[in-house]
Amino acid sequence: MDFVNELKKIFGNNLLYKKEDLFVYAYDTSQNPDDIILPLAVVFPKNTKEVSKIVKIAFKNNITIIPRAQGTNHCGATRPTKDSIVVHFSKMNKIIKIDKENLIAIVEPNVVIGDLNKELDKLNLFFPPDPSNLAVSTIGGAIGLCAGGPRTFKYGNTKDYIINLEAVLADGTIIVTSKNLNKNVTGYNITSLLTGSEGTLAIITKATLRLIPKPETRLLTLAYFNSLTEAARASNKIINSGFIPSVLDLIDKNTIQTIEKFNPCGLLTDKEAALLIELDGFSECVKYELEILKEILIKSSCSKIIQAKSNEENENIWRARRSAFSALARLKPNIITEDIVVPRTKIVDFINKIEELSKKYNIIAATMGHIGDGNIHPNFALDLEDSIQKENFKKLKDELFYYALSIGGTLSGEHGIGTQKQKYIQDAIDKNAYLLMKKIKNLFDEKNILNKGKTL
Ligand SMILES: Cc1cc2nc3c(=O)[nH]c(=O)nc-3n(C[C@H](O)[C@H](O)[C@H](O)COP(=O)(O)OP(=O)(O)OC[C@H]3O[C@@H](n4cnc5c(N)ncnc54)[C@H](O)[C@@H]3O)c2cc1C
Repeated sequence: MDFVNELKKIFGNNLLYKKEDLFVYAYDTSQNPDDIILPLAVVFPKNTKEVSKIVKIAFKNNITIIPRAQGTNHCGATRPTKDSIVVHFSKMNKIIKIDKENLIAIVEPNVVIGDLNKELDKLNLFFPPDPSNLAVSTIGGAIGLCAGGPRTFKYGNTKDYIINLEAVLADGTIIVTSKNLNKNVTGYNITSLLTGSEGTLAIITKATLRLIPKPETRLLTLAYFNSLTEAARASNKIINSGFIPSVLDLIDKNTIQTIEKFNPCGLLTDKEAALLIELDGFSECVKYELEILKEILIKSSCSKIIQAKSNEENENIWRARRSAFSALARLKPNIITEDIVVPRTKIVDFINKIEELSKKYNIIAATMGHIGDGNIHPNFALDLEDSIQKENFKKLKDELFYYALSIGGTLSGEHGIGTQKQKYIQDAIDKNAYLLMKKIKNLFDEKNILNKGKTL
């Protein structure tokens, strides 16, 4: 408690330490009621110097720091561990600068991605990473997990848009990883190393983002299929047709039906699967690509094509896609979203495996995914208070992850490892690379105080 008193003197009202306040920060979107641990305190720094002060005090007292943005991660990356404090960035949420000529933005970590894109929109600029909950999730969280989202297929993920970071190391030292330049290979790429490090290597206090011009046109097509295999085949044909859609997502029958049940948007519930395809760019170019796309879809036995003809229709389809998680969450008390990547050629096998395991263990599964990236998100609806379901889910998860690894896949494409997938990590990474990662962690954080118990 001396430690909390020391923080109290410095942070006054920007500190929470009463038990009833701490509960909120014991959770994130991951669902595992067994491992709820309250932090000792939650502190809200206002600037980099304050972050450095907190870290120095934690370093001296061997207290773990849990960097937390909005806590929407699915992998337990912001779950407090024993003797930890949560550092919450809600007071560091300013867009410092948008520089149109140099196509960069400088932001504090808790800027919400949707808010940033609203500002960029006014200048015809665009920041592509979109963790599908962009009205909530932040730049700091996206950097922490190297988030992706539906437009990764064409535009890449967060690491492709981070140019330079200001960060606080485990002993409180402040570093700047690069310069605000679009190209820089001077020295090792610490910027990339920190992106996706889940708050285990350093704390990000400022980020310089690469921006791109906003595409002139965006056009959404929803293509329905009578079988999953046909949908997957069509997506492979689209990929090999000479243009790259900005979105190529898959939604399965269970997801379509659940969206329609709780949030009716006019989706066709008798179809086995749908592809959500967005084309973007100059209008003439998009029109040309659309003709090729339609031809492919018709030849691929697509059973119905819905073409959004206005922004409103575009938005309606996106609303359906973005509401999938909240709709699925209403099926059962708990919803667990997994995030697995498999080679594109194995997508059908993998989705069939999800269905097989769902039947075997009697757990509802609904699958979506960024099929263009081979990145599949099975959502499992269950009741974790039911001990049989809970045990069954553990078995299902083990079988699913080991199956993914056996077909050349991996544990995460965008949601991270956190506490929820650590169990499998040594089976997913080359042994020597894993040992090197351990050494890197030790070099950055010899006392293991940064997000202890996560990732490796
Ligand atoms: C409905 C829904 C849909 C989603 N869809 C997608 C999707 O399509 N694609 C995708 O990629 N993800 C998706 N996600 C997960 C997504 O990764 C996260 O929601 C988001 O990126 C996390 O942002 P956050 O602000 O909530 O960060 P948090 O969850 O608070 O933190 C995420 C990680 O970043 C670290 N962190 C936060 N701030 C800092 C900082 N300043 N310095 C160092 N580390 C920090 C944390 O310690 C943690 O490890 C989805 C989540 C939900 C709930």
